[in-house]
Amino acid sequence: MADTKVSDGDVLVIGGGISGLTTAVEAAEVGCRVILVEKEPSLGGRVARNNKYYTKLCPPSCGLEINFKRIKKNPNIQCLTLSEVEAISGGEGNYEVTIRINPRYVNENCTACGKCAEVCVTEIPNEFNLGMDKIRAAYLPHPMAFPMRYVIAPEIIGTEEVKKCLDACKYNAIDLDMKQETVKVKVGAVVVATGWNPYDAAKIDNLGFGKCRNVITNVMMERLASPSGPTKGRIVRPSDGKEVKTVIFAQCAGSRDENHLAYCSGVCCLASLKQATYVREQYPDAKATIFYIDVRALGNYEDFYTKVAGDENISLIKGKVARVEEDPTTADVVVEAEDTLTGDKIKARADMLVLATGMVPSAPGGNIAVTYDEFGFVVSDPSIRGIYGVGCARRPTGVAQSVQDATGAALKAMQSMVRR
Ligand SMILES: Cc1cc2nc3c(=O)[nH]c(=O)nc-3n(C[C@H](O)[C@H](O)[C@H](O)COP(=O)(O)OP(=O)(O)OC[C@H]3O[C@@H](n4cnc5c(N)ncnc54)[C@H](O)[C@@H]3O)c2cc1C
Ligand code: SF4
Ligand code: SF4
Repeated sequence: MADTKVSDGDVLVIGGGISGLTTAVEAAEVGCRVILVEKEPSLGGRVARNNKYYTKLCPPSCGLEINFKRIKKNPNIQCLTLSEVEAISGGEGNYEVTIRINPRYVNENCTACGKCAEVCVTEIPNEFNLGMDKIRAAYLPHPMAFPMRYVIAPEIIGTEEVKKCLDACKYNAIDLDMKQETVKVKVGAVVVATGWNPYDAAKIDNLGFGKCRNVITNVMMERLASPSGPTKGRIVRPSDGKEVKTVIFAQCAGSRDENHLAYCSGVCCLASLKQATYVREQYPDAKATIFYIDVRALGNYEDFYTKVAGDENISLIKGKVARVEEDPTTADVVVEAEDTLTGDKIKARADMLVLATGMVPSAPGGNIAVTYDEFGFVVSDPSIRGIYGVGCARRPTGVAQSVQDATGAALKAMQSMVRR
């Protein structure tokens, strides 16, 4: 039955992406009691949606599974999924936090056997795959989900169908009495690890998203290339499922543009270089062209850039894409740009265009007393002690930097406990 028991903690971490997970395990492993609050049904954040990490090109399970194991065996961490912070009051060492917990309708008995999904016919958009396909309304968020537990979508609650799911479950794991709950807990410090959302490409008028069928975004490309994605990892055109032999990447799609995001999103040059390798690996004769303003391979990534740029089937052209149209007969994408080094006007045609859209900070909600910059990133403010931002909630950044940041945030949170 419902009524989640949540005890007071030392540190509240809001957001269960790589930054929040790392903060939680680092703090818990030195004895702090951590409450980790994640709004989605599983942990891992945006990293879980990636096909591979640059620069080693290993799958996201590499970094995430080790953290999931550490969480599993650490009794100091209370992990609340489908949950959000409603309000925080008090100050360093003594915060009172109100948390809203949404019902999953599935309890800890779930073995992820999948029998409930077999009898469920209603389909809902698959949010994990950015709505590019559908899933049954009794679902596992994704194959690597932690916790590895199904969810019953609210869409079928109260229907005959959910009764079939209940009958199919041999483990007494479906609990239709679960209700939305609100709990109040006390903590000494708060870490905001709410990460980022992709910029809405439909707002960029000239780049064809939503108008040309074969214009996608970089986050969609990660899902297309992933074995757990909507095409089981085949990179094909949305319009006709055709294999892609020519792909164009348009960098700074919205970023470094006063009309959209005035800042550099930091990771999208490396993400496009990485995605060009996805295409080349899958189709050995495919060609990729990257239109860029500058290539920013921040961190120790110069070697990766040099290696990818050295592939004779990958061209990098310094020039911003100005216009995108669809050829109505072939559904090819026709891109106009200017090569800023030669001054030549370029008209290029491709099977698919990938927009390197940037990162928008995701707000924690709950009227949290932190300072934000003009774009909504959490700022380190020496006048505020006890609440700390980490990872992409603080600035656009990659995984390695987020992990380092998280270790620092765990230390700061512990210092708040000492000052208690
Ligand atoms: C196309 C693309 C490819 C990339 N590829 C790579 C790569 O190969 N290698 C690399 O190093 N980096 C890569 N990155 C960057 C990487 O995704 C980020 O570094 C990483 O996601 C940062 O993790 P985070 O935990 O700070 O944020 P997130 O991953 O966004 O996690 C934040 C978490 O907080 C949760 N949350 C948000 N709001 C709330 C709330 N109000 N309450 C509770 N929970 C909340 C979210 O659901 C999420 O689980 C890529 C980025 C892009 C755009
Ligand atoms: S809820 Fe029951 S039927 Fe569904 S996956 Fe879990 S254990 Fe299996
Ligand atoms: S990382 Fe590259 S593509 Fe992304 S905003 Fe910065 S310069 Fe543009």
